[in-house]
Formats: sequence, C-alpha cells, structure tokens
Amino acid sequence: MRLFWHQRDLRTRDNVSLTAAARGDEVVPVYVYDTDLLATVGPRQRAFFLEGVRRLQERYRELGSDLVVRAGSPERELVAAAEEYGAEELYYNEHYRRRRRDRQDSVERALGKANVETTSLTDLVLVGPGKLESSYPNHSQFHNDWERVPKQMPVEPPEPDRLADVAADETVPVPDVDIELPEAGYEAARERFDRFCGEGIYTYNDTRDDLPRAAEAPTQAVSRMSPYLAAGMIGIRELWGEASEIHDAVHGNEARNVDKYRYELSWREQNYHLLYYNPELPRENYVSFPNEIEWRDDEAAFEAWKRGETGYPLVDAGMRQLEREGYVHNRPRQVVASFLTKHLLVDWRKGARHFTKKLVDHDYASNYGNWQWTASTGTDSVDVRIFDPVSQMAKYDDGAAFVTEYVPELRDVPADRIVEWPTLSRDEREELAPEYPHPIVDRNEGYERAQRTFERALGKR
Ligand SMILES: Cc1cc2nc3c(=O)[nH]c(=O)nc-3n(C[C@H](O)[C@H](O)[C@H](O)COP(=O)(O)OP(=O)(O)OC[C@H]3O[C@@H](n4cnc5c(N)ncnc54)[C@H](O)[C@@H]3O)c2cc1C
Repeated sequence: MRLFWHQRDLRTRDNVSLTAAARGDEVVPVYVYDTDLLATVGPRQRAFFLEGVRRLQERYRELGSDLVVRAGSPERELVAAAEEYGAEELYYNEHYRRRRRDRQDSVERALGKANVETTSLTDLVLVGPGKLESSYPNHSQFHNDWERVPKQMPVEPPEPDRLADVAADETVPVPDVDIELPEAGYEAARERFDRFCGEGIYTYNDTRDDLPRAAEAPTQAVSRMSPYLAAGMIGIRELWGEASEIHDAVHGNEARNVDKYRYELSWREQNYHLLYYNPELPRENYVSFPNEIEWRDDEAAFEAWKRGETGYPLVDAGMRQLEREGYVHNRPRQVVASFLTKHLLVDWRKGARHFTKKLVDHDYASNYGNWQWTASTGTDSVDVRIFDPVSQMAKYDDGAAFVTEYVPELRDVPADRIVEWPTLSRDEREELAPEYPHPIVDRNEGYERAQRTFERALGKR
C-alpha cells in the first residue's frame, strides 16, 4: 500500500506523483488540514482552496475510493496514516516555497524513522528549476533555456482500481467569505479553460490587454485560469498540452496568438525558478542596490490605494476589482503595483502582503516575483520602469468601459475627461464628479520623485 499526500494539487488528473504512485501499488489519498499553513493565505483563497478539497473528496468517492482528511501537523498525521493503512511508501509533488520545503523535509525524516519510503516528483511546473541555470539576468534569457527543455505531456489519471477502497469520515470546514468565489474544483477549471479555448485563445496576443473586453466577457480576453493553477485544481501539463495541440492546428496570426499564451505560462515558471533559488524573494530585494531605497512611510496614501481612492481612475478600478473579485487583470495589476511603489514610493512588501490577503489566485512565487519586477527590485531588464497611469488608461481603456465598471462615481463623466482626470483642474473635477477623489499625488512630481529615488539607490546620483 502507498499513501499519496495532496497539497496544492487538488486533482486526480494530470497529477504526476499520484499517477506514479498508482502505477506500482494501491494508493490511499490523504489531505492534511494544517491550520498553521492555511493561516498564511488570505481568507478568500483559503475558502476557495478548502472547497476544492471537498470537491476532490467527492471525486474520489465517485471513483470508489475516498480522500482521507486528517487535521494537525503533516509529519505526525502522515506517520499515523501510514501505520493505519499499512503503507510502506509515500508519494507527493514537490513544492518550492521554503516553508513547504521545510515541511516536506520534516515529513521525510519522520517517515524515514517509521521505515516508510518517500518519493517526490516535479509536477507544479513544466520544467523543474534544477534543470536550468541557477540565475538569469532577465526573462528572455530564462525563456530561451526553458523553451529548449522538452515538456512532459499530461499524465493519465490513475486507474480507479488502484485507488484504495477506503471510507473517510472527516472533511474540511469551508468558511464564509466576503465575495462570491469562482466555482472550485477540476470540473470548473476545465469548463473555464474550454471556454477560453473556444473564444479567447485564437486572439490572445491581440486582445489580452483589451480591458473593455476583459470587463465584459473575461475569457474572451484572458483565460482567468490563475485561481485554478494556484490551487492546483488543474495540471500545468494539461494546459500546455492543449494549447500546443491548438497551436499546431492553426497557422499565421492565429498560431502567433496561441503561442503567446504558452509564452505567458513561462513567466509563472520563471517565478518558481526564482523562488527555488532565492527563498528570500518574498522578503528581500532581488537586486542588490549600493544605497538603500528611500521608501516613504505614508500610511494615508497606502490606505487610499487599498480603498481604490487615489484619484487615478485606472489604479482605483484595479484596486476595486481586487476588492470585489479577488482578482485583477494583469494590466491594471502592473499599474496598481507600479503606482504604489513608484508614484507613492511605498515599499513593495506592503503591497504584496495586501495582495496576499485579497487575491483568490495568490501564488507565492508569482505574487512576490511580480511585485519585485514591477518595483524594479527584481528581474526586469530596465533599471527603473514607471508605468504612467494616465497613458496606460489612454492606451488600454480609452472609452473608460473597464474603469466605469468598477468606479461608479465616474459613470456620468465623458471618457476623455476620465482619462485626463489627474491632470484636470480642481474646479473641473468638482463639477464633473464631486464624489470621486482628487489625485493624492501630482502625476509629474510622483514620477520624478520615483526616478530620483531609484537613481540614488542605484548610485547614479
Ligand atoms: C503585482 C503582481 C502580482 C501578481 N500576483 C500573482 C499571483 O499571486 N498569482 C498569479 O497567478 N499571478 C500573479 N500575477 C501575474 C498575472 O497578473 C496573473 O497571472 C494573471 O493576471 C492571471 O490572469 P489569467 O489567468 O487570466 O492570465 P492569462 O493572461 O490568461 O495568462 C495565463 C497564465 O499565465 C500565467 N501568467 C501570465 N502572466 C504571468 C506573470 N506575469 N507572472 C506569472 N504568471 C503569469 C498565469 O499562470 C496565468 O494564469 C501578478 C502580477 C503582478 C503585476
């Protein structure tokens, strides 16, 4: 008998270590409800994840087995489960966050003492970080190497008769949250991906930044797969394999569009790679600066940013999307992060922690990796990149459809005035939308202050 330890891989399909375990023997699937670990994610993601555990348990029951749920520390509970089911081996998928790696190490030690063998395999990413160099100066060099490594295709699900005929009497509690969550589980993930492959993937490169489209019909612009990937409710090989099949069946512009989707997945891979080799990524600047970055301690500005009341319409729409949906489209995600760390000069760690609390798709590697990239403390090849929130809106939402979806105070204001809002006179703003805030920082002063601050940190001034 073998145990399979489910962590952030809440699925039976395309699950590398589960399938490997079931090839050699009967398998008892186990999930350990570990409140210490769950406390490190935000309440919305926790609820989504736990609902995913329940869906997984239902799936095992359909297959004539069950998901054994234990509460407590994984090392103790897995040793006890191995003893109870007479298991001689434990399989699990490797995870890269330091806390998870430490936990995996202590599980291995505890099981070793109990004479239970452990096997862990790469599942979370298409290319295991160990197959690549330990560091790359930027994404394109990472991508060049990563692209060359052959990708594994989706693995077959385990044969149902390899899943042990067990019955679990425990499940997990699913707390209520303040927003409507996406439907959890593999079926919902699959349905969403099918919809995207039917309507969005063929134009992905051309329309991914089309914010009005993203607000109106999300999966026509982007896939919205991030919550499912973050919880492991669908396997990365399944997405890659399907996108590759579609890619090989089309030509010209369509092929270029589909390929861009595969390319975007490589950013996720790079973030795991970064985390693997730099466990301090969530805490310390990736780049070493000769001088300290002089972050500003401006609590009022930070609070206004969190509430979506900065007087910068695209920033506020992004922050209100976060509050309402636990998700932000990638374009405004970059704009809000840049605004906080550049125009307001608030430390990226504060913004990243707020995202951790609010996102349903929070991914330890991608959240911190992207915050660092946007704050110019990470792997961006440009020394100081500052997104201008006004020109970003002019380029991606000039009709203000995205902004007015999330900022109702501006619904009666002509679109060109919304785009120019931070540069209008105070009187004009009062007249157009007295309920909507004035900008909390001057657009040019904020930009120039950020430029000077980063140049000082880089030793260029
Ligand atoms: C400040 C900041 C914080 C972020 N935090 C997270 C996070 O916690 N979790 C998360 O999954 N993504 C994060 N991202 C990356 C990106 O914004 C989301 O992956 C994307 O918006 C998810 O929407 P989607 O699934 O519709 O993406 P699509 O456009 O459909 O892209 C497909 C998939 O590619 C991957 N991907 C695309 N862009 C990136 C990227 N820049 N970095 C990593 N993966 C990428 C994701 O897995 C995504 O689901 C962050 C970006 C920024 C700028």
